[in-house]
Amino acid sequence: MRTNITLVCTECKERNYDTNKNKKNDPDRMEIKKYCSRCKKHTVHKEGK
Ligand SMILES: [Zn+2]
Repeated sequence: MRTNITLVCTECKERNYDTNKNKKNDPDRMEIKKYCSRCKKHTVHKEGK
């Protein structure tokens, strides 16, 4: 059971990554440090809608 999610930069709100996750293993909102091309640095990305 995998769900598609979008990872959104918390600094500029850019939607940078499309990925998916297993809702059973990760029931909460994901928070990952990833490179944002708009901020030109690594920022925290959160799961969007
Ligand atoms: Zn950003």
